[in-house]
Amino acid sequence: MEKCLKTRKKKAETAKQKLFSLSYMDFSRKTVSSGDFIYFPIKDFDKSKISKLGTISSKKLPKKIRKPRTISEILSKKLSKTELTELKTSFDIFGDIILVEIPENLIKKEKLIGNSFLKLYPNIRAVFKKTGKVSGIERVRPAKRIAGTGTSEVNYKESGCIFKFDISKVFFTPRLSTEREKIFAKVKPGEIVLDMFAGVGPFSVIIAKKQPLVEKVYAIDINNTAISYLRENARINKVSDKVEAFVGDSKTTISKKFKGIADRVIMNLPKTSLNFLPTALNALKPKGGVLHYYTFKATKQEVKA
Ligand code: SAM
Repeated sequence: MEKCLKTRKKKAETAKQKLFSLSYMDFSRKTVSSGDFIYFPIKDFDKSKISKLGTISSKKLPKKIRKPRTISEILSKKLSKTELTELKTSFDIFGDIILVEIPENLIKKEKLIGNSFLKLYPNIRAVFKKTGKVSGIERVRPAKRIAGTGTSEVNYKESGCIFKFDISKVFFTPRLSTEREKIFAKVKPGEIVLDMFAGVGPFSVIIAKKQPLVEKVYAIDINNTAISYLRENARINKVSDKVEAFVGDSKTTISKKFKGIADRVIMNLPKTSLNFLPTALNALKPKGGVLHYYTFKATKQEVKA
């Protein structure tokens, strides 16, 4: 039997607020409703402070079953402490799939890990593991399914737009969503934007959607599959009239078609962006424009230099 405050339903809301404010609620037990009464589980209370709200009584109140909230919690009884530390619990969610990194020595337990993710996130259809680094000119990372069903093609939502793509055939990271928000907020009506390394179009499509008065967004990528998805994403998000996509090397494409035309150039290829700087500057209008230049540096000082 648990200690509880028995109160009439009419008074229940007031009683609940009071119990919360005094921190008397026992969160390990469930509140029970029976007839005209509500029974609130209580602990560490001072009777005199709540006696006006009802009667203190004893009743069997069921235990609250707390669902695990993290992957470490769900696996705490199945993996050792060392294994849990090794398991990098940072992962990315792309629509209805999860992409996770499985350390070398946990490969034998990858099914268990994948299935635990499925239990934790009921809306997730499949779990994929990274099977290599982001590499090559197309910046693609291979992945393999370890739990669930279906392919690695996803529908991912960001800033009110939907993006379809295959995580193992094109580059995409949800971690740039805040950066993309910053950029689309800067684009002004009438601008011509050039997205030099456009991928499946997160910058291009979101800009066209969020700034419908943009004159044009030209998107270039060397990965044919990425550009196919980009065109489809422009269609899905109803911005095909604003976004024009080109497969090819940015240097060649810009020197042939886009010299001196852009008000804004986006250079999202941090690893080698410096090689493309002269090309990007050539793409800007002669009166000038804005260049969004991305690079990898160890410190803020290095970026400034
Ligand atoms: N902007 C996209 C995003 O945020 O998801 C993709 C960025 S990803 C880091 C870089 C992209 O540049 C890849 O899709 C890759 O195929 C493309 N790429 C690499 N070299 C290129 C080049 N010389 N010309 C055009 N695209 C290139």
